[in-house]
Amino acid sequence: MRLEFTPEQADFAERIGGICRAVWNTGLEQRREYRRRDAWINYRQQAKELVEAKAEHSWLSEAPSHCLQQTLIDLDKACHRNGTFRVRWRSGRHWRPSFRMPDGGKIEVERLNKRWGRVKLPKFGWVRFRMSRALGGTVRSATVSRDGGRWYISFLVEDGIVQPGRHASTSSIGVDRGVAVAVAASDGRLYDRSFASKVEAERYKRFQRKLARQKKGSANRRRTLDLMRAMKRRERNRRADFNAWVVNRLTARHGIIAIEKLPVWNMTASARGTVIAPGKNVRQKAGLNRSILDKGWCQFERALTNAARYTGTTIVKVPAAYTSQTCSRCRTTDPESRESQAVYRCRACGHSENADVNAAKNILAAGLAVTACGDLGAGRSVKQEPQPSQVGIPAIRRREEAK
Ligand SMILES: [Zn+2]
Repeated sequence: MRLEFTPEQADFAERIGGICRAVWNTGLEQRREYRRRDAWINYRQQAKELVEAKAEHSWLSEAPSHCLQQTLIDLDKACHRNGTFRVRWRSGRHWRPSFRMPDGGKIEVERLNKRWGRVKLPKFGWVRFRMSRALGGTVRSATVSRDGGRWYISFLVEDGIVQPGRHASTSSIGVDRGVAVAVAASDGRLYDRSFASKVEAERYKRFQRKLARQKKGSANRRRTLDLMRAMKRRERNRRADFNAWVVNRLTARHGIIAIEKLPVWNMTASARGTVIAPGKNVRQKAGLNRSILDKGWCQFERALTNAARYTGTTIVKVPAAYTSQTCSRCRTTDPESRESQAVYRCRACGHSENADVNAAKNILAAGLAVTACGDLGAGRSVKQEPQPSQVGIPAIRRREEAK
């Protein structure tokens, strides 16, 4: 949600972001130095040293101390998760300033009118922000971050929802996250939206060419970069809106949603990992990867899981193998039947359909097979999956024969 800082507040936020960055980098350097000598330093020690450092360097005290502690906590977590030497520096150029205010009790939020709210942040005072929806719970923490020239705030809210009721509807749907369209559903609906128009894509390319000609560090170059970032930000916002919209529709109507469990990271790892080991097929894959990432699959899944918490919708994840090669009518698996990226035509029964809808139907069938095995219980997400080579199809057959 967008924050409306006064220029002074924006300057202040920028400084806090800078201080947090300095704390992060210093803390990381310290951890690495310890590791090189086969020693460890933990969060508690670092926090203690931070207090001592504040006595010496008054500029550190400008930031709320909780923000700095939170930075060290985040660093601690990052080092545990990724290893001290794989945690990234926060470089001034690539890092978007952000800091977390972990003290929910000191953050007050008020709604001013339909569109605006205001929040009281420690050391900042009241700040207006675009309140697009009610928070629906007590604030536990707030994260302030800058994206391009704008500041945003997000809240972590304790909503008190522990166990959602069962979804009122028992209807189920399969969803395929396709390459040709963003989302295809087994009821034949296709959800798609381009996040950048052709004109915008052209404009972006023009900027890229312009950037290549401009001198590093020049004011013009910085202006071009700002414009490019603004375009990317618009794209991201549109994608988030789109995902939210689709997810709300799906979860409102259906009690069970089956989705593909895609190894997204594996699919993109080879193209991303060019620095470490240049893969041979990076070029061929780059096109597909880009479109996968474009559609924001991870974000979609996250939005879906989150929305399902509120509606009580069950999300079933099934392995993706063969879902795009199997006929949803006669269940013949035949790689040749996929006529093109967009059309599936079964060579056995002549069934012809949008390829992504066909896949969505298979996903639904596999998902229902899992739920029919009685693994659902009280849980909302199903961990157990059918074997990849079967995709739950025999189980579905049995169900149909029993009717
Ligand atoms: Zn068929």
